[in-house]
Order: sequence, then structure tokens, then C-alpha cells
Amino acid sequence: MKLTMVGTGYVGLVTGVCFAESGNEVTCLDTDQRKIAMLEGGKSPIYEPGLDEMIVRNRKAGRLHFSTDKTTAYDEADAIFICVGTPSDEDGSADLQYVLKVAEDIAEALDRLGPDAPPKTVVVKSTVPVGTSHKVRDLIRSRTKVPFHIADNPEFLKEGDAINDFMKPDRVVCGVESEEAATLMRDLYDPFVRQGHPILVMDVRSAEMVKYASNAMLACKISFVNEIATLCEHYGANITAVREGMCADRRIGNQFLHPGLGYGGSCFPKDTLAVASMGREVGFPCRLNEAVHEVNQRQRDLFWSKIADELGEDLSGKTLAFWGVAFKPRTDDIREAPSVALMKRALAAGASVRAFDPVALENLAGDLPEATRVEDMYEVLDGADALVVCTEWNEFRTPDFSEMSRRLKAPMVFDGRNLYRRQAMADLGFVYLSVGRPAVRPASASAPA
Ligand code: NAD
Repeated sequence: MKLTMVGTGYVGLVTGVCFAESGNEVTCLDTDQRKIAMLEGGKSPIYEPGLDEMIVRNRKAGRLHFSTDKTTAYDEADAIFICVGTPSDEDGSADLQYVLKVAEDIAEALDRLGPDAPPKTVVVKSTVPVGTSHKVRDLIRSRTKVPFHIADNPEFLKEGDAINDFMKPDRVVCGVESEEAATLMRDLYDPFVRQGHPILVMDVRSAEMVKYASNAMLACKISFVNEIATLCEHYGANITAVREGMCADRRIGNQFLHPGLGYGGSCFPKDTLAVASMGREVGFPCRLNEAVHEVNQRQRDLFWSKIADELGEDLSGKTLAFWGVAFKPRTDDIREAPSVALMKRALAAGASVRAFDPVALENLAGDLPEATRVEDMYEVLDGADALVVCTEWNEFRTPDFSEMSRRLKAPMVFDGRNLYRRQAMADLGFVYLSVGRPAVRPASASAPA
């Protein structure tokens, strides 16, 4: 099948590459010439494990193309996947300008090809508020009489494990209005569900809602455990033990119930806000989802208070070192990353900020040039008054603690990911503060006044 991915970001690129891998001829279209030039040079503009090799392999096989030429990309495709961004607008609603612009371009292409061309299927893959795929359909219909099919096909991949998620999805969700679109989607996804996972075909509005409901649920679990973690701090309980006790209940399970700095990235923050906005739109406030967002933002404030309580509100002359910039491990995505929020607080309080991340430093340079980027996880500690751990990259899990002590001005660690054992840290001479667990200090150190 000939497919065009419109938008060659995290979703469009991974989807395009994986569809090429299963034998389709795929064009990944983008308006960003820099991205397309990089891809044509054989390099991925995003960090995603395994992606570079697949790009090279499928380009060599002649199945994968990158282009900024929308005429050819639209004209030749049997199915067009809309994979452009749907960022939060100022009021929290999803900004649909990119999706609707693509719809206009598609209408133009269909009209140019005329009614005798085989009908194309337009697939909305971006995460969109319920009713958006119908908006896309109606906009195209208002501009051309040429027939086409519409489908909504939300994407559930996780950055950092995106290829695996796409190649072996837990489920594929397709919202359709015609048998032709249902057949096309089944044909496309059949190779990915050989292990028996379902392709769920449903109406378009329900498919759109599945995506928001899923992300809202996962975000809710994160905010839930973070709220309990803070309660643990107030009552002298330890969230690690509480979590174990709670998660042993099979009805609860143990995924997405790790306390930390709250969720970030390009999906949960904007999707929770979009759910709340959908509620407001119809006069039904989504109280739970609003609270999930508030708890998430508060989590960063609470963590910052720990730093300020130890080091003072005015951090002039002080230096904070950060381990981890990406919003989670195995990605270079720093959109809505808690690390960036904390670095901004540190800079605003007068501190100097030094940061290390295995893959996300280049993105930090664009977003927060005031932060000093250091390419070595130990060197970044040189002369810092404390270390702040923001991302649970594997290399931070068992570091050389004596090297850390030697390099830091004072052995103090604020661990936003609960990576270390508290008693071990105290024994090693660290002042150690984490999330939902009592702070520990070496026997000689006293708590701040
Ligand atoms: P992204 O910002 O990484 O990529 C979007 C791309 O679309 C950009 O490269 C941009 O230049 C391009 N673009 C914009 N307008 C265009 C046009 N008219 N023609 C061609 N290209 C155009 O976005 P993303 O992270 O891939 O997310 C895309 C959608 O998928 C969003 O709705 C998001 O919520 C959803 N989603 C994202 C993830 C994720 O992990 N990132 C997972 C599931 C779903």
C-alpha cells in the first residue's frame, strides 16, 4: 500500500518507518526542511532507540521516502495519516490549526485528482478532541465533491520504546464510518497483531475518546501516587513500603504508580488539559481530571520547596547540578519536563545551573541556554552545592558515590526519582532527600533551621 505520513515527528516518523518495515511504500512529509534534510542524510532528528537502523534499512529497500513536496505526497497515497502536533492552546484546549491546515491541503489534492481517482482514506492519528475527525471530514467535504473515507486511529506508542510499542501493540484502535476504511486499517495492522492482540474497530468518536481516556487514566495514577507520597512525608510513612503493600493487590497493579516529580512530555500534560477543556465545552466540569493536572503541577512546587528549605530561597552564589533533562529515560524529548521547570526555578532564585543528560542536552540548549551543559555525569557535579536527580536514566542507578562526594562541594542529593536506598546514602555521608520518604542525613549533619 502507498501511505503518506503528514508530520514527521515522534509519531509520524515511527509510524512511517514501521509501516515501511512491514512492506508498505511510505512517504513521510513535513514542512520542516531541516528535519527532512537530516532524514535524507540518513539521520533521525529525534532520539528513539532502534530507529536509525530501521530508517537506513527501509530507505535502502526503496520503501521509505522523506519529502517536503506535498503535491506528490498527497497525490500518490492510498491512505494519508495526519500526524501533526495538537499542542495546548492558552485555555488548555487542543490547538487544531495544524490538523485543519492539513485537511485543507488534502481537500485541494483530492479536488485536483478528480472523482475518477480511487477514493483515498484520510486517517487522523494525532490525538484530537472528540469530534475533530468529523471536523476534518466536513472541511474536506465543504471544499470538494471527490469521495474519500475518514478514520481515526489514535497512537499509543511510548517515547523511548516506540518501535516495540508500534510493532507489538497491546491493541489497535480504529474509528471508521465505512467498510472500506475498516478493511484498509485491518490490512495495514494485521502484521502487527499476529500475537493475538486485538484490532478494535469502532465509531470515530469513541476511537477519539479512547486515546484521551487512556492517557487521562495513566496521568491519574501518577498524580494519585504522588499525592499519597506527600501524605507519607507528613505522617512519617515511607511510600516505597506503602506502594509495595498497595500494589500487591492485583486489582491495583504496579504500573504507573511510581512517585516522582510528576508527569511531563508532549502527551499527558496537554491531554489532561484537553479532557478538562472538553468538559468545560459541554458544561460538564471534569473535576477529577482538573485535579490530576493541579496535583501534577503542585508536585514540582513541593519538590522545589525541599531544595529551598535546605539551601534557602536566595540561591545567589550557589550552583545546582542536574542529572537528567529528558522528561523520562530513553528519549531526548524535554517538552514539559519537570527538570526544566526546576532549572527555571533555580535560575530565578539566583543559582547557577549545570546539567547532564545522555541525549537531551542539545534540546536543552534551545530551551534554556542559561543552563550550562556538561557532557559527563561526574564532571557536572564539580563545585555544585547539591545534585538534583530528575530522570531515571539507567546510568544514574548505581553511580560511583565516592566520586560524587569528591566532586560536589557538599554531599547533598535531591532525588526526584527515588533511585537510592536512604540508609546507604546516609552511611555514605550524604544529606539525601527524595519523594514520599523521610529525609536522611549523616550522623554528623543537622537539619536546616
Ligand atoms: P511533533 O511535534 O514531534 O511532530 C509534528 C510534526 O508535524 C512536526 O515535525 C511539524 O513540522 C509537522 N507539521 C506540522 N504541520 C504540518 C503540515 N501542514 N504538513 C506537514 N508536516 C507538518 O509531534 P508528535 O509528538 O509526533 O505528536 C503528533 C501527534 O501525536 C500529537 O497529537 C500527539 O498528541 C500525538 N501523540 C504523540 C505521542 C508521543 O509520544 N509523542 C504519542 C501518541 C500520540
